[in-house]
Amino acid sequence: MAPGGISVRPIADNRRLDAEKTLLRKVGEAIERFRMIREGDRVAVALSGGKDSLAMLEALLLLQRRAPIQFSVCAFTVEQGKFLRPFEPMAEWLKARGIDWTYHQDRPSLRLLEEQPDHGCDLCSRFRRRAVYEIVRGLGANVIAFGHTADDLCESFLRNALFTGRLSALPAVTWSRKREFRLIRPLIYVSEELTKRIAESLGAPVIPCGCSERTGTVRKSLRSLLAELEREHPHIQDNLLAALGNIEPSRLLDVRYLNGDGFEAKQVSAELFPIVAE
Ligand code: SF4
Repeated sequence: MAPGGISVRPIADNRRLDAEKTLLRKVGEAIERFRMIREGDRVAVALSGGKDSLAMLEALLLLQRRAPIQFSVCAFTVEQGKFLRPFEPMAEWLKARGIDWTYHQDRPSLRLLEEQPDHGCDLCSRFRRRAVYEIVRGLGANVIAFGHTADDLCESFLRNALFTGRLSALPAVTWSRKREFRLIRPLIYVSEELTKRIAESLGAPVIPCGCSERTGTVRKSLRSLLAELEREHPHIQDNLLAALGNIEPSRLLDVRYLNGDGFEAKQVSAELFPIVAE
């Protein structure tokens, strides 16, 4: 107790609470803005064992208790043979916290790794997608939450613009091909600096994935470019995120978004923005 009878929390506790508050605010904003979660949903969190998906799971569990709507949360992990450490410590940690979690060893992926150790991301992602849909179907969930962060969004925007000639990033909400599952990215406004702080404060035994250590050179260059700019101009990433939600089609060159006079088309097409069709 501090002089004057005011109770003072240790600095570490205050930092943890601040990080948690920021996380909940940013995740809540994304969920609300894009209607990611709706009454009666069962949300399956794709838990890779890394800091991002752990922070996402934590945020969704906390929001579930506070949200004005009812939804349930479960988590699952797909083992594709890429983890650098045994998953047991994480399994124990999840069990101790009473989290509804499923671990699935994907045999086709493990076979793929054995037969074609140098397979690329395309093949790996295809195998993972198939496994994910199968698991989530078994869990009775209708929503799948992926842990892509604001850093991923910015990096993917720059990569698409600079290397593929498209202004595009990652969808906040989308659907699996037959609209069986709603796919959501609740961390789109959350930085990796924050997920790191959250994972540390949870004391979770984060499991590294071998692939994150051999990330492509383009990805590395874009990340370091952003980090370097951010050192000189704080909030660069926040500004980029804001820009992604504030496009001015009349100052771009895509005639699909312009009427015949070069002005912005007033009619927003549901095909261009699938989310408004909901
Ligand atoms: S980075 Fe590794 S785990 Fe991720 S898609 Fe590529 S091969 Fe698969």
